[in-house]
Amino acid sequence: MRMVILAVAVWFSGTTPFAQQGATDVGSRLMQQAVVKAALDAARRNEPQIIEEQVRLCEIPAPPFAEMARAEAYRDAFAALGLQNVRIDEAGNVLGDRPGAAERPRLVFSAHLDTVFPEGTDVRVRREGTLLRGPGIGDDCRGLAVVLGVIRALNDAGVETPGPITFVGTVGEEGLGDLRGVKHLFNASLKDRIDRFVSVDGTGLGITHIGVGSHRYRVTFKGPGGHSYGAFGLVNPIHALGRAIAAIADFQVPSEPKTTFNVGRIGGGTSVNSIAFEAWMEVDMRSADPAALASVDANVQQALDRALAAENGRWSRGRLDVERELVGDRPAGRTPAESPMVQAIVSVTRALGLPVALDEGSTDSNFGMSRGVPSVTIDGGGTGSGAHSLGESFDATNSWQGTQRALLVAIALARQ
Ligand SMILES: [Zn+2]
Repeated sequence: MRMVILAVAVWFSGTTPFAQQGATDVGSRLMQQAVVKAALDAARRNEPQIIEEQVRLCEIPAPPFAEMARAEAYRDAFAALGLQNVRIDEAGNVLGDRPGAAERPRLVFSAHLDTVFPEGTDVRVRREGTLLRGPGIGDDCRGLAVVLGVIRALNDAGVETPGPITFVGTVGEEGLGDLRGVKHLFNASLKDRIDRFVSVDGTGLGITHIGVGSHRYRVTFKGPGGHSYGAFGLVNPIHALGRAIAAIADFQVPSEPKTTFNVGRIGGGTSVNSIAFEAWMEVDMRSADPAALASVDANVQQALDRALAAENGRWSRGRLDVERELVGDRPAGRTPAESPMVQAIVSVTRALGLPVALDEGSTDSNFGMSRGVPSVTIDGGGTGSGAHSLGESFDATNSWQGTQRALLVAIALARQ
């Protein structure tokens, strides 16, 4: 809670230059500074090297829960670029500091190391002109490379920022990684020291300021089990599961904010002539609104309770139990479109003559948003397709625009 109050104070105090001058024209004001222009030129000039880094990092496998090899390469890149206090934390995140004139406000500028692809996936990148093909090449090798490009451009032009920037490669952004890297960053490694959080994730030029949250459960009904004829009259876990799914299937949810539910996998039973001893399902629910997410979650719990009671009440023999394991918990949140942080990012995007697209998504920024720390995810430029598939590709045409925008975002936010 202290962290929230501090962040608000930093943003809205009328005595800070950032608030005085306003965030809505920070882009055009920065573009008038020679040192910023030099940094933007460096970002464009260095783009071929940034793309080399993107390919090099992507050819180092980073399966879920096994990001270490890529993390070590990223740590070495941070060190080579002169960041200070370069380290890998207990969760596996890579951190490096670029000091500012003062200790605060601290900007965290990050991308994620992990991919969705399992151990053994062929991660070689094939090139055809500006087109790069390989698993993870956009999501998020692009972000990792853009972060390095930002550091290089700041160094090349000798940009000094008022506040420090901690650059980070996070682990566990995807799927069952469940944001474990960014959670550790906020809860431990940089606890109470993050004032603004940016993640560079994926391709294009979007600005994700709404964090779609999700809860995921693995639910298991358990009973004694028995012969389908000989033990007839016994409680049946598969029947209970069916009752629960029938109830969930009839849920009414708001369309604004979009709120969803899905039973994605089911299983259980041993044979057609057995009353099962176990039946399970995996349920996913999502919303950008924390209250709507909590409400659909409560309805799922109630559906499970009722299904259990109905099946136990239907028969006199045996008793069922239900286990609910939370396997995914991504908090919902938002950094409002009218907040100084989003206004500043919109302003620099406009100043560079790029289109403004405000978006929603589920990214590392969700966690900061849920903690009240201004957090936004920006795309890394270029054009991508097939994210999370083996056929993923990245077209580097004009991708320097994404690097320039990320650079200007970093400069704009590393201020008071
Ligand atoms: Zn991603």
